[in-house]
Amino acid sequence: MSAELPRAVTTPSKAFCYEYVMCLACGAKRLTLARHIRAAHAVSIEQYRAHYGLEPDCPLIARAYSNRLRLLAAKHPIGLRQGRKHSRNLHDGAPSMRARQ
Ligand SMILES: [Zn+2]
Repeated sequence: MSAELPRAVTTPSKAFCYEYVMCLACGAKRLTLARHIRAAHAVSIEQYRAHYGLEPDCPLIARAYSNRLRLLAAKHPIGLRQGRKHSRNLHDGAPSMRARQ
């Protein structure tokens, strides 16, 4: 698997929309790109960001989606650590939400 990425299909400013993020390599629209980048292009997030000149902390997730995750987590506080009922961790938006039911 090579770590070759093609030329960007659009500009980063157009790729990041509220409802989705567009893959700069192939134009795929996703709620979150991390998995897509690894699966479809076989590169790491870091390589992807570096290749397209994105900020190292540029979130590869649609804002609408991260908002929704946050709302869901607030509504259904499942699997969250106890004793931290109202923690606001919108800061580092790690999109790994364990949705257990
Ligand atoms: Zn892609």
